[in-house]
Amino acid sequence: MVPFEDGYLVDTPGFSEVGLWGIEPRELASCFPEFRPLIGECRFQDCRHVSEPGCRIQAAVADGAIAPDRLESYRLLLAETEAEPEEWE
Ligand SMILES: [Zn+2]
Repeated sequence: MVPFEDGYLVDTPGFSEVGLWGIEPRELASCFPEFRPLIGECRFQDCRHVSEPGCRIQAAVADGAIAPDRLESYRLLLAETEAEPEEWE
């Protein structure tokens, strides 16, 4: 569980039953403490850290600085946030 504003972000499998409290896809990376120092370091300011070239978070995973399953959790959550209907905002 990761404290996030007025709720908790559950970064374990099964989160999809919990919902994401309207977190924007671009805010999601900051919910992962080990990603925070790298946010803004990617080549693209709007990097989603999925398959973009020059991504520092993907590079950190490749270097072993970030556990691959953390990036996998992030990607699952990102897909979830991007799937949310607009009217939830
Ligand atoms: Zn990135």
